[in-house]
Amino acid sequence: MKPEIHGNVQVLDWRDDFGVVSQGYPLSQQILRTDVSGMPLEWVDYREAARLYHTEQVAYACGTLLYRLYGGTCAKTGLRTTVDVNSIIATLGHTGNPGNLRGAGYTPPLNNQTLFRRDAYLCLYCGARFTYSLLSRDHVTPFSRGGQDHWKNVVSACRRCNNAKASRTPEQAGMQLLAVPFTPTYAEYIFLKGRRVLADQMEYLVAHFPRSSPLHERMQRWPM
Ligand SMILES: [Zn+2]
Repeated sequence: MKPEIHGNVQVLDWRDDFGVVSQGYPLSQQILRTDVSGMPLEWVDYREAARLYHTEQVAYACGTLLYRLYGGTCAKTGLRTTVDVNSIIATLGHTGNPGNLRGAGYTPPLNNQTLFRRDAYLCLYCGARFTYSLLSRDHVTPFSRGGQDHWKNVVSACRRCNNAKASRTPEQAGMQLLAVPFTPTYAEYIFLKGRRVLADQMEYLVAHFPRSSPLHERMQRWPM
């Protein structure tokens, strides 16, 4: 039995156990999972969201409706069970969010994907914007001068600037950084990790950034 289709809603996926009707979003759209107090935790896909609903771990949902999932037929009513999956879901249980303070014992793992997003895909020396494959991780204070592979000592840089700087500090190379590197808080990190973050998810995450977050200014200066 296929679910009823209203308006321009489209069936994107259909398998034996359940069906998914999207409200115009690709099935790869990520859902923001928070704890019950609303602290952001992670991104999940619709399958994980279905599992969370099925195991009754979803306390409430907000944001926009992304998908309607059709499950098995209820023996009592003869109707198929449906679950609405929204863009933000709050779940019960352990939080896992280390809090909102910068440098309060939590350092997110450093990887180029989130680093380049932190720096808005700009080379922080020449200010030009590049695609992922054309950017590199520059160590502001080079390893050879005691610099570390740490959020506060790395920026995204184009190959040319990285080569020109070589194993020197910016001062020694006569180059100036366009912005100060910083370690993201947990909410900032979740935001940076997101692929195709929806407007309501972005608004939600931004509300959990510290007031002093450099991302407020960066997002205005360099819209992504
Ligand atoms: Zn450059």
